[in-house]
Amino acid sequence: MKIKTSLTLWFTILVSTLMFISNAIVLFAVKEYLYNQKVDEIKERVVQVEKVINALAIDKKESKEKFDIKDPELLLYTLTDQHTTLYEGAYLQVTSLNDQIFSKSPTLEKSELPVLKDGTIGTLTLDLPTKKGKTKTKILYYSTTLAFENILLAKLQIGLPLAKNDKLVSELLFFRLIEISIAIFISILFGIFLSKRALSPMVKITDEVNSMEGKNLLKLLDTKNLDNDEIGNLAKTFNSLLSRISEAFEFQKRFVSDASHELRSPLTTIKGYAQLIAKRGSEKPEIAKEGLDVIIQEVERLERMVNDMLTLAKTGRNTTDFRKVDIIALINSLFDQLHKIHANLKIDSSNERIFVKADEDSLTRVFINLIDNALRVTEKTGFVKISWKVEDSYIFISISDNGIGMDKEHLEHIFERFYRVDSSREREKGGSGLGLALVKDITLMHNGQVFVESKKGEGSTFTVKLPIFI
Ligand code: ADP
Repeated sequence: MKIKTSLTLWFTILVSTLMFISNAIVLFAVKEYLYNQKVDEIKERVVQVEKVINALAIDKKESKEKFDIKDPELLLYTLTDQHTTLYEGAYLQVTSLNDQIFSKSPTLEKSELPVLKDGTIGTLTLDLPTKKGKTKTKILYYSTTLAFENILLAKLQIGLPLAKNDKLVSELLFFRLIEISIAIFISILFGIFLSKRALSPMVKITDEVNSMEGKNLLKLLDTKNLDNDEIGNLAKTFNSLLSRISEAFEFQKRFVSDASHELRSPLTTIKGYAQLIAKRGSEKPEIAKEGLDVIIQEVERLERMVNDMLTLAKTGRNTTDFRKVDIIALINSLFDQLHKIHANLKIDSSNERIFVKADEDSLTRVFINLIDNALRVTEKTGFVKISWKVEDSYIFISISDNGIGMDKEHLEHIFERFYRVDSSREREKGGSGLGLALVKDITLMHNGQVFVESKKGEGSTFTVKLPIFI
């Protein structure tokens, strides 16, 4: 189901439920109120009848006449001050104490009221004469006793029609139902309007994203007219995701084009020499020998480059395999291995134990690359020195050399992939241009940083900063 439809539906269900509940409460209250009014009315009526009968009895007594409770015309009395009869709008019946009917109001015609227990009050449905003939009529019924001078004379049954109450309640119900229908109709319209309004930015975003389909270009969503609400935030998050995807696309494209460019040159050399050997190698063995040497050298270069590329691709952000590594021990062991071949490699030796949380192989790779670069640019007479210091829960490991150094302009680029200070010379030396890019990626992965200071002709210092693991 569409969100728009379900929102409208929920809104309508909510409004109708509230309307039904509130109207049911109102109807119930009105019904109760009318019923209680009728109860008051019937009690008043009883008092009135009792008063009239008592007055008649006193009258008769004073005029020394005999008062007869069995008089069939007892209830035909007219209330002179109100110009109405006693039975007006009611059903009255007087019976003996053993339930024999003495008199009935004319409103009952041939019908009779049941004689129920004294004090009974409640509703009854009886076949009673009405304007439309004898019909089932709902009445409020009350049964009591009649006494004169503390002597029980008879029983009195009285009924008041409830038709008016019911009519009022059903009219009220009718109007309330109309009101509920109108409210439901309005809530549907309002629900559609509201959900359309709330979801229109979403529809716009979907349209924008759809329009990007099939195009290479990732266009950012227009968030200018969006509010600072959930949808606005979603669009902004989506935009930042798009930007990262675009960057990754760009990076990938550049990497592939740089990589193919880098791979092309050794391949061209290999092809050239292979063709030369094929053509003249048999007549001139020295050409074949020279050509094969170059080919081997280029293949080795290709191998290094491909290995570097693979390592670079594998350098993920997965830090779950990180372990506690004694960084000083790692540097010392590297030094021990390399010092045997490169006597000009020095170290500030120390047996202190400082730990970092790291992937040991990747970290070894960082220092191998830095030391290897430094040794490459330094004359046999020069030096390469490894030193370290601790500051603010970080360890700073520096590899300094007094080699060729670099101009300032190169410093901001040397950590880029395939960047070389002197392209042709470096290529000849077999560098892939990926070594420092790897150093940067790996240190970042360890929440660290790498800095360089260098002066042309004087040397360089590369410093790796890593957080100490306590
Ligand atoms: P490569 O694998 O080709 O050496 P790197 O990424 O390691 O590539 O180095 C990038 C560039 O920085 C290279 O041109 C290299 O000559 C230069 N470079 C790296 N270390 C030093 C250093 N210690 N002194 C001078 N130049 C350096």
